[in-house]
Amino acid sequence: MATLAQLAFAPPDATERDKFSIFRVVFFLIVHGGVIAVFWHTRWWAIALCAVLHSVFGGIGICVGYHRLLTHRSFKCPKYVEYILAFLGILSVQGDPIEWVALHRKHHQHSDAEGDPHSAREGFWWSHMIWVLWIPSRKKWDQISKRYAPDLLKDPFYRFLARTNYLWTGLAALVMFTFGGWPLLIWGMCVRLVLSYHITWLVNSASHTFGYKNFDSKDLSTNCWWVALLAYGEGWHNNHHAFPTSARHGMKPWEIDFSYYFIKLLKAVGLAWDLYVPSAEKMAAALLPPEPQEAEETA
Ligand SMILES: [Zn+2]
Ligand SMILES: [Zn+2]
Repeated sequence: MATLAQLAFAPPDATERDKFSIFRVVFFLIVHGGVIAVFWHTRWWAIALCAVLHSVFGGIGICVGYHRLLTHRSFKCPKYVEYILAFLGILSVQGDPIEWVALHRKHHQHSDAEGDPHSAREGFWWSHMIWVLWIPSRKKWDQISKRYAPDLLKDPFYRFLARTNYLWTGLAALVMFTFGGWPLLIWGMCVRLVLSYHITWLVNSASHTFGYKNFDSKDLSTNCWWVALLAYGEGWHNNHHAFPTSARHGMKPWEIDFSYYFIKLLKAVGLAWDLYVPSAEKMAAALLPPEPQEAEETA
């Protein structure tokens, strides 16, 4: 029989995401609840470490590794660099690379339409976090991963990470507790993960709801400056949906894009090459016409 939560948060694509994950509910409750402990376990060094770990595991691991490299292959790098970036990403506890990449590629293929795992047309909170609580059955998941991430499925390293996903979370928590006690466990795991989750989720919710559009991307994606600042450049999401394989998401001079700066840094030291960025002509062809008021001013 369906639980109250299931009835309240029924998924729009019920044929695909057919299992309500109590495990995930409990996990998110523990991580979010752990944040309350900052009132008893706060040290300045723990806050500083939280910021560093957030940018390394979230910014470099998820935004550069999982997203721009593994999902969209927007630049090339040595295999060992790819594996390091993927490993940093897994420590953000957003799923293993195969799962993350498959769902994100599916999002791009069906943006804000049927088949999008977190379509913004289903409401802000669905696209923000409720969608995460629903998972496909094992059989459906096998079909999704085979269709959307066959390249990663072929690689024994990513299959190994998929099998050992939770082990790394446990180990990270253990290492933090051993070396930094409760302050590091609370700030390095709970606060960092809660920040990391909501910032990533804001890309799916706020950057499909608030902000402006540079390009005609045929979906609801927007450029949202405050999400871009929080998410290391990922909030320039309309630019990204218009040019998914571009290593650069901030297309205008003021669109600050820390992930792209990091990829350029990798290139400068010889660890990345073939960065794809669309030509000025391609971008000009996809530009939306100016708003009527702007058009009048420039006439
Ligand atoms: Zn999107
Ligand atoms: Zn993407």
